[in-house]
Amino acid sequence: MVNKKPTSPPGSPAPEAAQTLLALMHAQGEVARLSEREQLFSSLLDSVNAVLWAFDWESRQVLYVSPAYERIFGRSTSLLLADFNEWRDSIYPDDLEYAERSLAEVLVKGAVEDREYRIIAANGQVRWISDKCFINQQADSGQRLIVVGMAEDITEKKRLEGELQRLATTDVLTQSSNRRHFFDCAQDAFDSARQAQTPLAFLLLDIDDFKQINDTYGHLQGDQVLQRIADTGKAVLRRGDQFGRIGGEEFAAVFPGCTPQMAQQIAERLQREIQRLSFIHEAQVFGVTISQGLTGIREDDETLDSLFARADAAMYQAKRQGKNQIVIG
Ligand code: GH3
Ligand code: MG
Ligand code: MG
Repeated sequence: MVNKKPTSPPGSPAPEAAQTLLALMHAQGEVARLSEREQLFSSLLDSVNAVLWAFDWESRQVLYVSPAYERIFGRSTSLLLADFNEWRDSIYPDDLEYAERSLAEVLVKGAVEDREYRIIAANGQVRWISDKCFINQQADSGQRLIVVGMAEDITEKKRLEGELQRLATTDVLTQSSNRRHFFDCAQDAFDSARQAQTPLAFLLLDIDDFKQINDTYGHLQGDQVLQRIADTGKAVLRRGDQFGRIGGEEFAAVFPGCTPQMAQQIAERLQREIQRLSFIHEAQVFGVTISQGLTGIREDDETLDSLFARADAAMYQAKRQGKNQIVIG
């Protein structure tokens, strides 16, 4: 029997050609799959509200920046790819030194995840950015030092944090510092004064016969008195002084750098300004007075508590002596 070489059906390609064709089809499939993946990847990058970026450290060249850059920074990606200074130019001037220093820290730490700085977007709007960065660990990057990062717009988060901070530290009625925040700030001022061996004065202020004001003119009117007294306090105090509402109708102030004698002038002005306030309730005009206790750092073993206790004792002495006066303790 003669061994007959299998012949291809007429019209079909020779075996070598078939193999080439198969390889071609495979390659085409691969290309299609890759392009599908690339499209998927690019649409994912587009929908993520963060800028992904890659940067060649030595050549200071931005190698890649994702499309969200245009949306968040309001600048063109092609300009950034052409010139790294585009990124520097977008940073809020006060934050530029920090933004560059914290980027350079990635060389030592390998990752910097808590970088936050402000940028000025193209429309002039200031935005907060969280810009995490990492050394790229991929082996195929060879000797090149590539830094990759992710920049997110955290402006809204910052706004909410600020609002929460304000709510946690402010007295709702008078918009002045609440008791806890006042004592936190007073403690900081006290510690600094002790360290620098500088004077510091502490003042307590209590409204005279406030219960009677409430009883005569009503609680709402009493609230207005508290608000006007807080406004007067804020207006009379100097920048750097602390002022807060520490109880119902009790306020306190701290004057860094002042002896009680120096702070006395401020207290006297406060006394006068408050006495000049006038309130009208159902055609009746009335005023208020306050009693103040003032003291300053004296002893070597002084604490904020001992200062507070002395100012309190001085304030009660002012009450006992007939109210509407300042006593230095
Ligand atoms: P003194 O001259 O000795 O300080 O007498 P006083 O009446 O001011 O002091 P007292 O402690 O007897 O009364 C304080 C009053 O302050 C009682 C309380 O109802 C009122 N008060 C506390 N918090 C508020 C507030 O938020 N709004 C109003 N309207 N009144 C308040
Ligand atoms: Mg009181
Ligand atoms: Mg009172």
